[in-house]
Amino acid sequence: MRSWVEVSLGQIRANYRAVRKVVGSEVEVMAVVKADAYRHGAPEVARALEAEGANWLAVSNVDEGVYLRRQGIRARILVMADFLPDERAGLEEFGLTPVIHSLEDLPAARVPYHLKIDSGMGRLGTRASAEEIARAVQAVPANLEGLMTHFASSGNYESRQTDDQLAHFEGVLSGLRAAGLTPHYIHASGTIPVAYGRKAAWWNLVRPGHAIYGYVSPARGSAPRRQLVVKPALSWKATVLAVKNLEAGSLIGYGGIHRAARPMRIAVLAAGYADGIPHRLGNRGHVIARGKLAPIIGAVSMDLTTIDISASPEIRVGDAVTLLGSETDVSGSVVSIDAQQVAKVAGTISYSVLCGISARVKRVYVD
Ligand SMILES: *Cc1c(COP(=O)(O)O)cnc(C)c1O
Repeated sequence: MRSWVEVSLGQIRANYRAVRKVVGSEVEVMAVVKADAYRHGAPEVARALEAEGANWLAVSNVDEGVYLRRQGIRARILVMADFLPDERAGLEEFGLTPVIHSLEDLPAARVPYHLKIDSGMGRLGTRASAEEIARAVQAVPANLEGLMTHFASSGNYESRQTDDQLAHFEGVLSGLRAAGLTPHYIHASGTIPVAYGRKAAWWNLVRPGHAIYGYVSPARGSAPRRQLVVKPALSWKATVLAVKNLEAGSLIGYGGIHRAARPMRIAVLAAGYADGIPHRLGNRGHVIARGKLAPIIGAVSMDLTTIDISASPEIRVGDAVTLLGSETDVSGSVVSIDAQQVAKVAGTISYSVLCGISARVKRVYVD
């Protein structure tokens, strides 16, 4: 194989259990499996979570939900970001639960739905007052099963935005309760408010995605101690296609952006930006080759990436190197690269590194 990822379903399950343990038995955990489970493979991840007793999953759009149903997933599925008119029939036919984010869409609701409040993120959700919402909800027969919002800055403890959003959301919630509306589920939190123990934002359901895959972004400012321990479930490999020696002064790759300062041994990897290796890693990033960090040299090309293996000249054509994951070196110490480190070097975020792993990268499931 040119390039593949190994996904540990056992680790996904362990991460899910870790989230459940932090929030306790009173809080439902709705694992987010949108974007093909952050490229870990939505059906396989969903099946593993169902085996752990997951009652709820979340996806972004109707297609993603329909795909899971066709793969035999029976858990409740919340469709968080798609209530387009031509998708609504699919919602009903496949037993998916919509999020409604505008009061104008309410009359079109024919199944139990969750209503999204824009509490200050300025993205999806209604900004109407509690009175307006109550009137609109009471005018339609479908059941308001959940009330939700989403935070813009939950990892930034130097910002007041999350407290302001909480205050707005609580105001709407108490206004609706005063009007006699009692949605069964109240939810707002993704990974970060769970990981840093912001209990006031949990209510009775949390929606972690990143944590299920083994990541928690570092918080800014004076965050409370992290309560959640999870580990990455995915490692990413590429095969060495060629190795060669270059004389001092040789140029490497497109644009000749790297010139060998000394005689150098390089390996050419069978993966490039079309596989999801960020182009920005050119001359900056690293991979792990035979247990040692090996620098990426020259530009990342569409299908190929070159690395400096002067420190590990024993590498052969057909060897696998690690783009994300861990290897143990000859002395027994573990060397790792995770999506957060790659993101930092590439000037992006770990979510984007994971979601960027392209469809042509094969997936292998391990326990
Ligand atoms: C993606 C998403 C989540 C999950 O966020 P993580 O940071 O990955 O845990 C939760 N809620 C909504 C509305 C989302 O779009």
